[in-house]
Amino acid sequence: MPTLVELVVAPAERHSEPILRQKAAQQTGLPPGAIAHIQILKASLDARGRHPVFRLKAEVYGPNEVFTPEPALLAGFRPVDGRKKVVIVGAGPAGYFAALELIERGIQPIVLDRGEDARTRRRALRDIQQFGIVHPHSNYCFGEGGAGTYSDGKLYTRSVKRGDIYKALRLLVEHGAKPDILVEAHPHIGSNKLPGVVQNIRATIEQYGGQVLFNRFVTDLLLREGRIEGVVAEKIGVESGSTEVFMADAVIVATGHSARDIYRLFHTRGLRIEAKPFALGVRVEHPQPLIDRIQYRQEQRDEHLPAASYSLVCQVGDRGVFSFCMCPGGLIVPAATAPGEIVVNGMSMSRRDSPFANSGMVTAVEIADLAPWHKHGVFAALEFQQSVEQRLFAAGDGSQKGPALRLPDFIAGKLSADLPHSSYIPGLYPSPLFELLPPAIYRRLREGLDRFGKMMRGFYTREANVVATESRTSAPVRIPRDASTLMHPDALGLFPCGEGAGYAGGIISAALDGQRVAKAVDEIFLKG
Ligand SMILES: Cc1cc2nc3c(=O)[nH]c(=O)nc-3n(C[C@H](O)[C@H](O)[C@H](O)COP(=O)(O)OP(=O)(O)OC[C@H]3O[C@@H](n4cnc5c(N)ncnc54)[C@H](O)[C@@H]3O)c2cc1C
Repeated sequence: MPTLVELVVAPAERHSEPILRQKAAQQTGLPPGAIAHIQILKASLDARGRHPVFRLKAEVYGPNEVFTPEPALLAGFRPVDGRKKVVIVGAGPAGYFAALELIERGIQPIVLDRGEDARTRRRALRDIQQFGIVHPHSNYCFGEGGAGTYSDGKLYTRSVKRGDIYKALRLLVEHGAKPDILVEAHPHIGSNKLPGVVQNIRATIEQYGGQVLFNRFVTDLLLREGRIEGVVAEKIGVESGSTEVFMADAVIVATGHSARDIYRLFHTRGLRIEAKPFALGVRVEHPQPLIDRIQYRQEQRDEHLPAASYSLVCQVGDRGVFSFCMCPGGLIVPAATAPGEIVVNGMSMSRRDSPFANSGMVTAVEIADLAPWHKHGVFAALEFQQSVEQRLFAAGDGSQKGPALRLPDFIAGKLSADLPHSSYIPGLYPSPLFELLPPAIYRRLREGLDRFGKMMRGFYTREANVVATESRTSAPVRIPRDASTLMHPDALGLFPCGEGAGYAGGIISAALDGQRVAKAVDEIFLKG
């Protein structure tokens, strides 16, 4: 039996084999040369003391103990026979992980995505970054890999109960992510590595008999006698205008939180949907060295330490204000999905080496807060969200330039004369956010940011930008499903899935929901 130990090491020692061996020897009493293998199970950074350290949970194998690596999950994959077909709408983490799970179960997935493949999609990202042109089918949210591909690639989730996180992480590693994500307390891939991983997942789906088709915008659901029989997809791009029909034994809808047209389609087809609370706010960007100094209490960050992050939360009245999707060493990106909107989000490269630290700072929007929007019924939250994004756009010059203020000016309700440097490529301009954001949202954010400045000394600084709008935090609509069958209550064989349906909030939780739904398709619906 290997011995379980905790090794505490300095950042520079984290990957040093001789030091780990020496520390393991001290803990186990074995001579260093007798240690056959050290298997790290968990690695977390502890920056509470004067000198940050890594705490490594590890198994130490002695001279007669053999470490046997787990067999690859992909080794168990077999080609599907095509007798059962499932259409998956959306090639995001939910859609792709549902496809992998279906293949493992011998069922053929046909994945349709409105956007382009990960590589071609880069042109659309350049268009929005450099020219302010928003393509409605390929952008930071739409296209292969969904919102996850050019995201920050943080892989933590709170939804531990919903599925096998370790399996999802192993599948990512088997498709090219670095094995460290299996042990890091805060695993991260980075948007330079994610596209490769996503393309490798596609190759697996295709290798085992699944299909992945891009530029297929699903515009209708084929329903007969309370059952779904397939979907209609419009071709986008070269063959645009023509449509195709895809028949299937079941349909998984995993279209993400920004596919507003899918919610309209469900409503038009008489399939129930519900307004859902979400969160809305701004993105705050600081110089990364400042956040490093605050969090590590070092004048200059030790080169072996990662760019520092933070997590802040406070209660303002009866609503929370909290940091969301913090991206150390990252960039703010324009994440609108239609022309005429300003939406920002954050990402980072695997090295997290940009000189900026940004984070969403948002506050909860409950349906009860939206009285004037109740006339829109199930679209109340969606219409409210869109109206804020459009208002911020209309106040600008028609480009994707970000409306912004220096942090103290945001709190004081005063227009900034100029702005500090930012990572946001389209550029920033001073804008009266205190007038443009909905009053209740602005008041809560102001109070929340003021308190964060007191909770984290140095956070309140004129060197920080506040940029609007952080509005795509989660779906503003829920597509209901039966708790045990995971099917929509109004259509047999129709499975709402992932973040867009309201059952996930991030890459890993979306992937887990994809796996869970695929399991339900197989075990409850097709075999049931
Ligand atoms: C810039 C950015 C950074 C992020 N950073 C992180 C992070 O660090 N960590 C994290 O956990 N999460 C992050 N997220 C959120 C994360 O990406 C999402 O939670 C996750 O991708 C949701 O997965 P999903 O599969 O449910 O939906 P999505 O990833 O949104 O995928 C939905 C897919 O459906 C397709 N689609 C939509 N409508 C149709 C239609 N009618 N027909 C055909 N296809 C359609 C879209 O093109 C899209 O590819 C980030 C998001 C963004 C935008």
